[in-house]
Amino acid sequence: MGIKEADLKQEAECTPGLSNFLLKDHPDENKWADCVHCGMCLESCPTYELTGQEQHSPRGRVHLIKSVAEGKIAVNEQFMDPVFACLDCRACTTACPADVDVGGLIEEARGQIRQAMPLTGLKGMVSKVFLKGLFPHQNRLNKLGSMLKFYQKSGMQKVVRKTKLINIMPRHLVDMEAIMPEVNEPVRKKYKNQNVIKAKGKKRNEISFLTGCVMDVMFSDINEATINVLTRNGNDVIIPKNQTCCGALHVHAGDRETGRKLAKQNIEAFKDAEKVIVNAAGCGCALKEYPELFREDPEWHEKAEKFAAKVEDISKYLHDTGYEKPIAELNTRITYHDACHLAHGQGVRQEPRDILLDIPGVEMVHMPNSDRCCGSAGIYNITNPEMASAILDSKMENVPEDVEMISMGNPGCMLQMALGVQKYGRNQKIVHTIQLLNWAYQKEDGKEGK
Ligand code: SF4
Ligand code: SF4
Repeated sequence: MGIKEADLKQEAECTPGLSNFLLKDHPDENKWADCVHCGMCLESCPTYELTGQEQHSPRGRVHLIKSVAEGKIAVNEQFMDPVFACLDCRACTTACPADVDVGGLIEEARGQIRQAMPLTGLKGMVSKVFLKGLFPHQNRLNKLGSMLKFYQKSGMQKVVRKTKLINIMPRHLVDMEAIMPEVNEPVRKKYKNQNVIKAKGKKRNEISFLTGCVMDVMFSDINEATINVLTRNGNDVIIPKNQTCCGALHVHAGDRETGRKLAKQNIEAFKDAEKVIVNAAGCGCALKEYPELFREDPEWHEKAEKFAAKVEDISKYLHDTGYEKPIAELNTRITYHDACHLAHGQGVRQEPRDILLDIPGVEMVHMPNSDRCCGSAGIYNITNPEMASAILDSKMENVPEDVEMISMGNPGCMLQMALGVQKYGRNQKIVHTIQLLNWAYQKEDGKEGK
């Protein structure tokens, strides 16, 4: 196995046989029970590929979590490191013949670590400001969006870049600033007085739309494209007012308490919805996994199960319910990147490709290892910049050079891939699959869409 409990020098802290996890919300024994240590997951794991260390492999992480539960090792720094270095990309679950939910175990283990070892100092403050103070509050996000819009449109951004004033910030923040998309009005603000955005032509269905928190500030043009595509295809679109952040980043960071609070708010906000449509793979996956947050609360578990059954990614929804095939040609060569939380997390692989292939003039170029993580993984590129950067390098080596666009279905990947394009001096445009479909529709209507 490569991991010996003795190597971890923790015996003194442990009582063999007694779990070292806290009683509340501990990792689910059923999730590791099926692991037979076969190692078939090893090659799929980007962190194992980079480090070659068993503790940074899916099998090693499962073994460590089980060892804590059996009282053999403690919840401490040595345990925390491999658990937080995991991308939660779920590639191992796809590769695993026993379907072991390593990502789920990792999230539960992180919850234990953060209960036992809360973040302090600067990291604690940053986490409190962003995870608790910003993402769950749409008004604050809107204000941040207005400030970013002012920064971009007032000429301040040009001055800051020209005078190199930007270089006083840490390197990875400078990189992020360089790839920041153009900020526009959030759709929740734009449609705040409309209960329903009516279908164009004959109504076929009614759906409720999760706009996302950061998504609606940084990528409101994709949200707008999503609404256009849905209404064009006979859907009345409802944007429930009390919806909030999906909580994915909180759960990834081990703050399951806030994750549950946000989940409850969304379950209530969407309680009358027939379908909950999501255009961000990470958010969609988090919503579908709400029942996992309520394993110890039967009442909310039942509500979460009902809610999760209604959640669907936009590309799968359009594929399954049918959509108007565009007539206008886009004449572009593109490649497709499988976002982990779409391909591995939700099993959605062919549907977005079919949508792209239905657009006349789109030539698809195969990307080898298209479902390999790009290193975004929520805020992994901020918390583990070196590992994220190495993973991005290996991703970019697989991106064909002769394409004009790279399409995908997740905002985090879009930012990370934009960073890769910049780093490698490429000039490829990063697009959401639904944006391309919308551009084709717009071109058909005589509007210039891209
Ligand atoms: S997680 Fe799955 S693939 Fe990996 S060692 Fe365990 S059973 Fe084998
Ligand atoms: S979720 Fe991804 S990074 Fe984590 S163990 Fe599995 S394959 Fe490795």
